[in-house]
Amino acid sequence: MSQVSLSIDGKEVAASEDMTILDAARRAGIPIPTVCHHEKLEPFGGCRLCTVEAEAGGRTSLVAACTHPVQQGLVVKTKSNQLDRIRKMLTEELLAHAPESDVLQQLAREYRADKDRFPREASFCILCGLCVRYCDEIKKKNAIGFVDRGPHREISFIPEIAAKECWTCKECFPLCPTSALQAAYVLMRSFTL
Ligand code: SF4
Repeated sequence: MSQVSLSIDGKEVAASEDMTILDAARRAGIPIPTVCHHEKLEPFGGCRLCTVEAEAGGRTSLVAACTHPVQQGLVVKTKSNQLDRIRKMLTEELLAHAPESDVLQQLAREYRADKDRFPREASFCILCGLCVRYCDEIKKKNAIGFVDRGPHREISFIPEIAAKECWTCKECFPLCPTSALQAAYVLMRSFTL
């Protein structure tokens, strides 16, 4: 795989061309916040917390570091006032769904997010898709999936598959950034609805 050279926060970073900005930054020890990313899973680009500024050919764009590929000469900024504002607002939106999440509270401290900015919709699920993707990509069981669309989108265990697989597995539960207990609750609920 060919190598490229890019700049991240003023540091020259070498990366192979199949890497994303997030891969290259993490390998160089430069932190970028994420919620929906997991190194064993395909990039998802759902939470947008990893938004960075990327300049190429004289044009600067806001891109998701977890899905945007590196390229020769790319100039990336992972920190700026604009990025702080974006991450603050995204965190506030997520906190409306899962105000008790440790992961989100940590982000709230970092970006000075107000957990009461948006009306509470305590669905607990922030649609990061980690459980859905883990079960699909790693377990290959598809025992849980997204249902419905738009504001009604949520995750749901598929009872016929979950009854056979989930009670003895529960591998996706600790991935949940809001609460592993919540995953257990959703599993229980799928058998009682
Ligand atoms: S607990 Fe169920 S949904 Fe989660 S990874 Fe295991 S089989 Fe898939």
